[in-house]
Amino acid sequence: MNHPAALPAAPSSPHVMNTYGRVPIALSHGHGCRVWDVNGKEYLDALAGIAVNTLGHNHPRLVPALQDQISKLIHTSNYYHVPGQEQLAARLAELSGMSKAFFCNSGLEANEAVLKLARKFGHDKGISNPQIVVYERAFHGRSIATLSATGNTKLQKGFEPMVPGFIRVPLNDIEALKRATEGNPDVVAVFFETIQGEGGINAMRNEYLRAVRALCTERDWLLCIDEVQSGMGRTGKWFAHQWAGIVPDVMALAKGLASGVPIGAIVTGPKASEVLQPGNHGSTFGGNPLAMRAGLETLRIMEEDGLLENAARMGDYLMGRLRAELGTHPGVKEVRGQGLMIGMELAKPCGTLIARAAEAGLLISVTADSVVRLLPPLIISQAEVDELLARLLPLVRAFLAEQE
Ligand SMILES: *Cc1c(COP(=O)(O)O)cnc(C)c1O
Repeated sequence: MNHPAALPAAPSSPHVMNTYGRVPIALSHGHGCRVWDVNGKEYLDALAGIAVNTLGHNHPRLVPALQDQISKLIHTSNYYHVPGQEQLAARLAELSGMSKAFFCNSGLEANEAVLKLARKFGHDKGISNPQIVVYERAFHGRSIATLSATGNTKLQKGFEPMVPGFIRVPLNDIEALKRATEGNPDVVAVFFETIQGEGGINAMRNEYLRAVRALCTERDWLLCIDEVQSGMGRTGKWFAHQWAGIVPDVMALAKGLASGVPIGAIVTGPKASEVLQPGNHGSTFGGNPLAMRAGLETLRIMEEDGLLENAARMGDYLMGRLRAELGTHPGVKEVRGQGLMIGMELAKPCGTLIARAAEAGLLISVTADSVVRLLPPLIISQAEVDELLARLLPLVRAFLAEQE
């Protein structure tokens, strides 16, 4: 294999804006669950580009399919029909039990479409000041509207005023939801992540999901679910809400849908499929032939290789081992999650673990200050999970043993 000459890893860049606290390594290439940096050091990837690289890196069936697509068409615009959109929308409808899809390029774009659709659903019913219920600790993106829906004042600071039209409630409290919306005729939708990713791997309980589904049906609200991180097989079901046996009215997808090619989508049920009409919404890049091919091939390979089952099995194994090794440690508050979306909450902030793990040859993330988050590719094997643990456990034990 031929890899381009490496650039030296720079601690900061004179020309790239300083919007990220980056680990001082630069990655060059990958294969499966492994990546190598420009100096040849190898890392096990338990981040998957933040739940994006569903099939890991350099997948032997995805790469030729993308090469084939690039040689045909990359982009055409939505002035014309894109056959791949029809095919991917049909597959998403089939897997979700829903009806239609709209394609965009990222998570925040998908959520922006959700918010526009929910507001228009209200206006179509004569509600001129539509209100959307959102949740504490939610993360929906960094555009002005999705940042407003996000439940993290640290991220919002400096970008006020936030967009109005949101009612915020706590997770898993159906009475709080009823109280917050009592007698309010302007409510049009409830919007949440089935399992909050950036908020610290906080799950909506199945009984809560079913109660919200029933309430939305009763009150003619749209049930809108952000599955941008928890969807696409990561929890062992195609979409995490399917563990509760419910079907939303609108669902947002992005991250893992095309294994690394930028993509976003909303999927709608019958109540929401006709709300957006020509002229109401659009995207230049959205649904282009390359992204559609990447999505279709990702879904095909996931099915052929049983990756949902693998995510469930490897997730259970990894979470079980973490609980067995660290679950009773006084410095560990909780190990939680579903499938390969796992958080280990420590009793102290642990952001420094990201760089230390990289040093030890492991890519991880830390979210909500004190939650070690593991989101490996869905192709991970048991031997690789063992290796992940062998690299992670000593690191966490040493970190927890340190004096403040
Ligand atoms: C990552 C994420 C987003 C934002 O996605 P971008 O592609 O970064 O815009 C939105 N919602 C959830 C749940 C996410 O995890």
